[in-house]
Amino acid sequence: VLGGLTILFAVACVFVSYLMSRRAMIPIAQSLARQREFVADASHELRTPLSVLMSSIESLGMRKQAPSDGNDDRFEQRTLGYMKDEVKGMTRLVGDLLYLARSDSGAEQLQLARFDIRASAERTLNSLAHLFEAKQIVLDLQAPDKLLMYGDEQRLLQLLVILVDNAVKYSPSGTLVRVKLAEEKQRSHRILTIAVVDQGIGISAEEQERIFERFYREDKARSRQFGGHGLGLAIAKRIVVSCGGIIQVASKSGQGSAFIVKIPFSE
Ligand code: ADP
Repeated sequence: VLGGLTILFAVACVFVSYLMSRRAMIPIAQSLARQREFVADASHELRTPLSVLMSSIESLGMRKQAPSDGNDDRFEQRTLGYMKDEVKGMTRLVGDLLYLARSDSGAEQLQLARFDIRASAERTLNSLAHLFEAKQIVLDLQAPDKLLMYGDEQRLLQLLVILVDNAVKYSPSGTLVRVKLAEEKQRSHRILTIAVVDQGIGISAEEQERIFERFYREDKARSRQFGGHGLGLAIAKRIVVSCGGIIQVASKSGQGSAFIVKIPFSE
């Protein structure tokens, strides 16, 4: 009987450890699949501008060999302009990928300091004036005259730029983008709220579940036309989470979107 029980116990142990290893393997398999998908998406995003650059170089080369039709300078300038745009886009993409990789490996440290977020948000929004002007979008900043915050200024401004850039990108001309900054006091700490509200195309309920995923874009072809890579909101979420905060979206298709960020801080 003792021998039988020992065998039964051994079989049960093997079975339980098999189940546990399977449970452990599922997340590992999922994360490997996600990593593979990420590398495939990143390669695809880099391949598109590279082929545009290649064909631009080829057409410049062919033009040099053909007899001049008097328009060479204009053609060269225009092609060089396209090439510069592609290189700019690739540089931004590589910067975004590096930030996510460093942040995944824990190499990204927050640079904490006290600063007036009202003043720095205003400066940043002024530097984006060309985006608003190009689409005749009106910006409305609502914030107290001074709002002292303790946090990573550069990262918080990067987050604001991502949300405002999207609000402008996905809104028709002649609309309004509202940026609200506010502070809420709780017992031991304070909470900074950043709200970016637009009157744009909106985001359907199914899409809202996925927009914070890396490389997620509702319509890839349309997004390329808008100049996005689908990493903006993934980076925004990473910044918010690394600051101990939350980011939420409220939206309806065709009725605009509101992105709300809440970040606790003390000091
Ligand atoms: P992208 O570079 O494509 O803008 P993001 O990660 O910033 O990438 O956004 C992911 C997707 O979420 C976008 O492709 C778009 O479909 C949707 N989205 C983000 N912000 C808005 C917004 N303010 N209004 C409508 N759709 C938005």
